[in-house]
Order: sequence, then C-alpha cells, then structure tokens
Amino acid sequence: MLIGPQALIDHSALRHNLGVVRRHAPASKVWAVIKADAYGHGMEQAAISLSNADGFAVARIAEALRLRQSGVDKPILVLAGAFAIDELAEAAHHRLELAVHQLEQLALLEHDSLEEQLRAWIKVDTGMHRLGLDPIDVPAVVKRLSACPSVHPQLGLMTHLANADDPQDPLSDLQCERLRALASTGQALNIGNSGGILAFPSSRVDWVRPGIMLYGSSPFPRRSADALDLKPVMTLKTRLIAIRNQRRGDRIGYGGTYRCTEDMPVGVAAIGYGDGYPRHAPDNTPVLVAGTRACLVGRVSMDSITLDLRGIPEASPGDEVVLWGRGLPAEEIARHAETISYELFCGVTARVPKEHLELSSGRNRS
Ligand SMILES: *Cc1c(COP(=O)(O)O)cnc(C)c1O
Repeated sequence: MLIGPQALIDHSALRHNLGVVRRHAPASKVWAVIKADAYGHGMEQAAISLSNADGFAVARIAEALRLRQSGVDKPILVLAGAFAIDELAEAAHHRLELAVHQLEQLALLEHDSLEEQLRAWIKVDTGMHRLGLDPIDVPAVVKRLSACPSVHPQLGLMTHLANADDPQDPLSDLQCERLRALASTGQALNIGNSGGILAFPSSRVDWVRPGIMLYGSSPFPRRSADALDLKPVMTLKTRLIAIRNQRRGDRIGYGGTYRCTEDMPVGVAAIGYGDGYPRHAPDNTPVLVAGTRACLVGRVSMDSITLDLRGIPEASPGDEVVLWGRGLPAEEIARHAETISYELFCGVTARVPKEHLELSSGRNRS
C-alpha cells in the first residue's frame, strides 16, 4: 500500500473533456494547450490521450522540442514564439508554428533563411495588454512577413482573451471583433481559450485553444465543472498516517493556530506543501476521508496536514484521503486557498508520483 501522496490521472476524462470542446466549437480546429507539463498532468501522456486534437499548444520552444522527442508529429504552436536565432533554426527543423508578438521577433525571422518555412501566427494585443502587437502595426507586419522567405505564406492571426472567465464582461466580444477587423481573406483566426469556448461564440473561430477545461475544471468562478459536463482528470490523494485524540484546549501544529474547542480526534494525512498542497489553505478547507467530508485544522506543514475527524468516528490510519479531484472539485479547494485550480494543478511537485489510468490514444476522428 502506497502511504504517500499520489496523483491519479484519468485519461478517459481527458478524452471526454476534449469531446466537450468539440461539442461547443464543432467548426473550429483545436489546439490542445498542454504547456506547463499539461497543467501538471504530464505533457507526454496528455499528448497521447489528446491525439484527436488538431494540434498542441505550449508556451516555450523547449516544451515543443520535448513533445517532438516523444514522437508527436502533429502541429505544435509555441505561444510565446522564439527569442533567438538558434531557437528559430530548431523551430524550423521541427516544424513548430510560432507566435510573433513583437517586432523583435519579426526582425529575427527576416534575418535568417531557414531550411524549412515556418508558420507564423501574428499575436495581436486586442485588450489584454500582456503580449501582442499593437493592432496599428499589424498591416505592416503582414506585409513584411509575407515578403519573408523563411515564413510560410499562409499567415494566421491570434489573440488572447483577458476576461473570458466572466461571461458578462463585454471585453471578450470586443477583443474578437478587433481581431476579425484586422484579418484579410485566407488568414486563419485563433482565439478561444476555455472561457471563450464555453461562453463566447465569437471566439469560436478557425482555431480555439482550450486548456483548463480539458483538465476538467471550470474557468468560471460561479459555474461548476459538473454543470459544464467536465470531468476532473487529476485526483490528488494520500492516506491517514495517524489519528490522535486531542484534549479540549490543545493547540494543533505550527504556531498553534487551531485550538480544540472540545476533546476530539485529529487525523494526520501524508501530504503537505512539499507536495504542492497550498500552505495557505485555512481551517475548514475540505478533504474526503474514506469518501466522507472532513476539514483541515491547523497549518499545512511540508509533509503533512491535520484534519478534524469529529464527523468520522470510524476513520482509521491507512484510510484514503482525497485532496481534490473525483468527488471534491479542485475549484472548491482553490476558493478556500484564494487561488485558482490552474495553480493547484501546476503546483503538484515532482515528489508526487503520477498514476496514469486508461492511457491510450483516442480513436481517430472520421
Ligand atoms: C494558457 C493559454 C491558453 C489556455 O487557457 P485556458 O484558460 O486554460 O483555457 C490559451 N491561450 C494562451 C495564449 C494561453 O497562454
């Protein structure tokens, strides 16, 4: 029996969630976003299960090269593009598609003649004000890229939505409209993230880029994954390693921040911030002990957490403890810890072994 924490990765859920993307955006091609080790789920394995996607998107060249090394030969989009000549050469050699979000990247492409033409996606800042070219510069950039021997003549235009997690926010439609206004015929558009795909039809263009919804988590603070028919992919679990009967007035853990208000059983589970469980998760953050809800009391330590077991008198050491996943949405833990499920998933550390369930490639699309 494994005592320490473990992340179960349910690949049938991953395939199911890609199906939900297809249902919402049936006319769009899908870049499955598997940056940051597939949001902590394992990039190479996710690529196998998401083989029905039309391509994969990652943030950096190094991630794309890792994917090619693992045998992926689908299109790969590098969301931040290339920053040096040697990266460009690698990108061309491995047929990567690159975002071009600043004039320096354009100059880089003009500087070199590459062995193979690169596909370029002009990334436009339509309102997020993070990366992207000013819309005013786009016509000139199109002209220069079209004249560039190292760049494939078919250009794409992409943008990223800043507030797609709020279905009421008018900025998303405005951003889509701004991108559309810049496109000429033959240029593919590439917009929707998970929030866009689920809530903003105007972002369901030629290509969409779902991330968090593939992993079964809702991008919206007020709509559950369940209500969106998304299934959690990661279940983070561990076991109870001790149960102590504490006395009224006893203080629990570092700093003694929790004080027992009566005699009570307190369980210790083998997981902590050294595994990626958020240290600032407060008292009352829920867990499942052998399928029943209990909650945190006292501070999260590096290797363990302490649990109020008053509601589960039958609990015993060795019982399974689920931190998030099936039966306990990561979004709920994220709310308690004042973060988002994205950060919880990405934060699971290398100390936690992953077990991949039902890992096999999906059927080819007909
Ligand atoms: C991470 C990322 C996405 C995916 O966003 P989700 O909210 O996880 O769906 C899409 N596009 C870009 C540019 C990104 O950086």
